[in-house]
Amino acid sequence: TTDNQNTQLTDGFHLVIDALKANDLDTIFGLVGIPITDLCRLAQAEGLRFIGFRHEQHAGNAAAIAGYMTQKPGICMTVSAPGFLNGLTALANATVNCFPMILISGSSEREIVDLQQGDYEEMDQLNAAKPYCKAAYRINHIEDIGIGFARAIRAAVSGRPGGVYLDLPAQLLAQTMPADEAKKSIFKVIDPVPRQIPAADAVARALDVLKGAKRPLILLGKGAAYAQADKEIRDLIEKSGIPYLPMSMAKGLLPDNHPQSASAARSFVLAEADAVMLVGARLNWLLAHGKGKTWGKDPKKFIQIDIQANEVDSNVQIAAPLIGDIGSCVSELLKGISAVPKPSAEWIAAITDKKDKNTAKMAETLAKEANPMNFHGALRVIRDVIKKNPDVNLVNEGANTLDYCRAIVDMYKPRKRFDSGTWGIMGIGMGYAIGAAVTSGLPTVAVEGDSAFGFSGMELETVCRYNLPITTVVFNNNGVYRGTDVNPTGGADVAPTVFVKDARYDKMIEAFGGVGYYVTTPAELEAALTEAIAAGKPALINAVIDETAGTESGRLTNLNPSTAAAKK
Ligand code: ADP
Repeated sequence: TTDNQNTQLTDGFHLVIDALKANDLDTIFGLVGIPITDLCRLAQAEGLRFIGFRHEQHAGNAAAIAGYMTQKPGICMTVSAPGFLNGLTALANATVNCFPMILISGSSEREIVDLQQGDYEEMDQLNAAKPYCKAAYRINHIEDIGIGFARAIRAAVSGRPGGVYLDLPAQLLAQTMPADEAKKSIFKVIDPVPRQIPAADAVARALDVLKGAKRPLILLGKGAAYAQADKEIRDLIEKSGIPYLPMSMAKGLLPDNHPQSASAARSFVLAEADAVMLVGARLNWLLAHGKGKTWGKDPKKFIQIDIQANEVDSNVQIAAPLIGDIGSCVSELLKGISAVPKPSAEWIAAITDKKDKNTAKMAETLAKEANPMNFHGALRVIRDVIKKNPDVNLVNEGANTLDYCRAIVDMYKPRKRFDSGTWGIMGIGMGYAIGAAVTSGLPTVAVEGDSAFGFSGMELETVCRYNLPITTVVFNNNGVYRGTDVNPTGGADVAPTVFVKDARYDKMIEAFGGVGYYVTTPAELEAALTEAIAAGKPALINAVIDETAGTESGRLTNLNPSTAAAKK
C-alpha cells in the first residue's frame, strides 16, 4: 500500500458530480439501479437535486423540457441496457425537437460486452444511441471525466440544440486518481452557446424581401421561444407592424391576445401571404412542408432564420436564408426595419375581418352548454383559468385534446406551453409536467387525453412523492379518439380504441396521497381547477367528456392510410 504517501485520492463517482456542479447543472432526472445508485446518492449528498422517476422515458422527457426552458442541457441518468433504451426514446424526441439534454447511462463491462460474452444487462449502448442523438461519447478513463462532460455539454447546446448520449462504464466510477490532479481536470465550459452573427449581405437580402412584400407574415416556431430573445422578437413584430403566427410552443412568446396575432385567421394568412419570415420554425409536416393547398395558389418568398444552415431549402426554395442565432439575426434586422414599409392597410383589414368572423364563430361554439360536457365546454374553462393564472405552465397532449386546446387556450408568457411537438407524440405528459414544475417552481397544469395520460400515468407517484404543484386534467371520453367503437364480430374483446368505461383516474392519485376530483360539468371543472392551482399540491381532475365527442386522429385524419378495398 501507499500509506506512507499523503496522496488524497478521489474517484469517478465524485468527479462526475464535480463536473456537473462546475457547469451549474444542479438537477438530475433519473432512475437508480446498477451501476448508478451510489452516484445518485452522492449527487444528493453533494447538494444536487435528484428527481427519481418510475420509468426512464419520463425522466428523459423531464430533462429535455428542462433543457428547453433553460438553454442548459437537462440531465437524465439511467442504468444499463433496458433503462438506457427507455431513456433513448426521450433522447431521440429531444433531438428531433431541438431540446438540449444529456442522457447519462451506466454500462456494463466493456471487455465482456465487446466479445458478447453475456454480461448482466449487456448492450453496446454507445452505438445503439448514435443514430438517435446529436452526439454520443464514452468516457473510459477517470482523467477524461472533465473533458468528456465539456464535450457533451457543448454538443448539446451549441448550434442547433439536441440530445447527447454519455456512456459511463461501471468501472469508470470506481477508478481513482490523486485528488489535486483531478481537481485540475474539471472545468466550466467557456461560452457554451456562442453567438452566431449573420452575414451582412444575408441581412440585406432578408430586408429586401420584406421591402418587396405586399402581404408579409412572420411565423414564430419553438426555436424562437427557445432562443430567449423575447424583447428583440417583440420589437421586430411591433416596429414592422407585420402580422404573425405562433407555432404551438411559440404561443405566449407574445401574448396570444396581441393585436398583430393572426392565429384566428391562420388558414387565411398561410394561403394569402406573399412573403413569410420563418423564425425558428421548420417547414416540416406541421406546416404542410411549405407547399400545397395550405399555402395558396401564388408562389411565396420565404425568409428563414435558423442556426442550422442545411435546414434551408429542406422542402421549398428559401429566397433569403438568414443563418445565425435568433437573437443576433433579429437584432440585425431591427437595425434596418424602419426602411421597410408597413404592411398595406388592405392586408391588415382582410386579416382583421377574417379574425373577427372566426372569433365570433368560436365564441358561439364555446358558449354552447353541451350535456354531457364536450371538449369545447371543458376547454372554455381551461382558457378562462389560464387567463387568470398566466404564470402556469401548460402541458398538453392527446389527439382532440391537443388540437382543440392549442386553438382555444391562449398563452400570455413565453415558454409556458409544452406539447407533443415535432413528432406529434403521446407520452410526454407527466415527464414534461414534472420537468416544468421542478425547473420553474411554478404551478403546472397538464391537459391530457385519457389515452395520452396512460403512457406516463404511473409518474403520478413521482408527482406526489416530491409534492409538486401539478394538476393533471384527464379528458376522459373512454377511449382513443372516442369511446364508442364496437367489436364488429360481437366477440367479448372491446374494440381496439376503447378503454374501461368511466375509469376513475381521480382515484389513482389518491393512492399516493394526492387530491382527486371527479367532474362532469364546466362549472365543476372550473371550481376544481381553480382550487387545485391555488393549493399548489398534486391533484388530478377526472373530467368526464361525452364519449361520442372527438374525431379519429383529431386533425390528422388524413395521415391514416386507407384501404382501396371496399369497406363492408
Ligand atoms: P416548430 O415546431 O415550433 O415549428 P421547429 O422545432 O420545427 O419549430 O423549429 C425550430 C428551429 O429553430 C430548428 O430548425 C432549430 O435549428 C432552430 N433553432 C433553435 N434554436 C435556435 C437559436 N437559438 N437560433 C436560431 N435558430 C434556432
